Amino acid sequence: MNKILEVENLHFKYDKTQEVEQLSGVNFYVARGEWVSIIGKNGSGKSTTARLIDGLLEGFTGSVKIDNVLLSQENVWTLRKKIGMVFQNPDNQFVGATVEDDVAFGMENQGIARDEMKRRVDEALLAVNMQAFKSKEPARLSGGQKQRVAIAGMIALRPEIIILDESTSMLDPTGRDEMMRVIHEIKDKFKLTVLSITHDLDEAAHSDRIIVMNEGKIVQIAEPEVLFSSNKDMVEIGLDVPFTTNLMTDLERHGFDLPKAYMDETQLA
Ligand code: ADP
Repeated sequence: MNKILEVENLHFKYDKTQEVEQLSGVNFYVARGEWVSIIGKNGSGKSTTARLIDGLLEGFTGSVKIDNVLLSQENVWTLRKKIGMVFQNPDNQFVGATVEDDVAFGMENQGIARDEMKRRVDEALLAVNMQAFKSKEPARLSGGQKQRVAIAGMIALRPEIIILDESTSMLDPTGRDEMMRVIHEIKDKFKLTVLSITHDLDEAAHSDRIIVMNEGKIVQIAEPEVLFSSNKDMVEIGLDVPFTTNLMTDLERHGFDLPKAYMDETQLA
């Protein structure tokens, strides 16, 4: 299997004087082209894991391999280029006076030629369905549109892995649906691998596998249909979201074959 991301035995604490670790032995991999979600209640270590993979945290033990290269202080800037992060708050991600400037910003820092930059801006805005907003002011866009512009800026830099850190949690249902559609499309078009931290189980249902974290540890890794059918009470595995039958409907809508055992139980209920 072609593993683009491998995380082994990560231990990390923000405050070295404290006993308690924020990550205590985190192990997982993501295969090239895969879409993996990380779910778990607040404070379980999801964002810390993402930040650490993106080279933003120092002083951890264990290893992070990106494309088979061990992340270290020396190569962090090179490896970070393979990763594109999209954060929760769309308003914190803007730097340009227009949508076009904003998408070009990261490329300007990389010294990419003007023509190539223009080409990539158009291509990226088209991919997120925001080409009509090219000369608009980012501040005037809706939350969902802002997030799509943030995605455009990121894909213009040609990452191989995109990490979404609760990037749909401030959007309304329409914005969220549109964003999910865009992620599916850009994933195929740009051959991306997706690691998505989310509170939204419907969103997690889009992924190939789901990692469940609790108190700095991974408590489960499974395909959505297996996870959602084997754990009727998500609270048991450390989630603060109730397991709903809506979710089963959503899973079916996404084309999952629900395990027979689950179907039988719901029919009885
Ligand atoms: P999640 O993303 O699952 O909500 P986080 O990774 O943000 O969890 O947080 C894991 C733990 O680390 C929490 O207890 C949180 O309070 C703590 N934490 C997060 N960021 C910092 C920080 N910058 N400094 C100190 N503690 C932090």
